[in-house]
Amino acid sequence: MIDNKFTLAFLPTPLHKLNNLSKLYPDYNIFIKRDDQTGLASGGNKTRKLEYLIKQCIDDGCDTVFTVGAQQSNHCRQTAAACAVAGLECHLIVRGKKPKTYQGNLLLSHLLGAKIHFTGNNKKEIDFATFTNQLTDNNKPFIIPYGGSNITGALGYVEAVKELKKQLVELDINIDYIFFASSSGGTQAGLILGLELYSLETELIPIKIDKDETQGLEMEEEILKIIRKGTRLLNIDRNYSISDITLNKNYNQAAYGVLTDKEKIAINKLAISEAILLDPVYTGRAFYGMLDFLNEKKLTLNSNILFWHTGGLPALFDYADGLK
Ligand SMILES: *Cc1c(COP(=O)(O)O)cnc(C)c1O
Repeated sequence: MIDNKFTLAFLPTPLHKLNNLSKLYPDYNIFIKRDDQTGLASGGNKTRKLEYLIKQCIDDGCDTVFTVGAQQSNHCRQTAAACAVAGLECHLIVRGKKPKTYQGNLLLSHLLGAKIHFTGNNKKEIDFATFTNQLTDNNKPFIIPYGGSNITGALGYVEAVKELKKQLVELDINIDYIFFASSSGGTQAGLILGLELYSLETELIPIKIDKDETQGLEMEEEILKIIRKGTRLLNIDRNYSISDITLNKNYNQAAYGVLTDKEKIAINKLAISEAILLDPVYTGRAFYGMLDFLNEKKLTLNSNILFWHTGGLPALFDYADGLK
């Protein structure tokens, strides 16, 4: 099942040590996994999910993909790119009003041939039927949820753990902590399942990106639902509960997509020390979280730490004013 995919990514993505950054934090060894280099129209984590989602779309006999996201959605841009490769029609339902000029991911989605529908001021949950009903020819729609986060998409990150494990064996190292940006939860669900399936011991430290609108555990519950589907599908003999799903909520005070000094510090630090570019929405926020753990010495000394770079480069350009 894990091999049943439509190839879109350049895999394995590189795994390497951040030598300059590790010198700045001599108590730790810091590594990076380069899913910003998955290769599909400037890369990112959605490409791994889309390998499974696009395969399912084709297997289901569908020819027209619908998905949803923010104006600077990396997921929408990678979906548009995947559809171009697979010869599928792509419809993106994008939040907000149509801007005068297209920038960043929105521009790329347009160049990649997606049909873009703007929702205007409508903040309600997206009803895909209002869009799929507008199809005139005999097109068969396939709906990819927000962020590609269902069990099919999450398989991309189950497989990514297998890839990581192989690289760690080759490098003869263990990783004690993995930091990454968590938003719609598919990446996190896949990593949790992958660690179990491939018996890799490491602590995940997912940095929650979206602001908490409620004090509840809604995101944890969504992730748990995906994981429970995954245990059945992958024959994993383990009963997960809500306490197995951790989300660090110390860095999400600013709303989704709001650039603050924290993201700027992180973007500058990695750019100047390692010439690696983070994004303003996800990886900038998550990397700041990791730097905070390092500065505060919250991790075991001499441990090996991995930052899983999930992409997002094109969004930088839409934040040009805030970043200069
Ligand atoms: C979507 C995205 C994430 C979050 O992944 P989820 O699976 O939605 O949690 C992290 N980083 C970048 C750059 C993304 O585009």
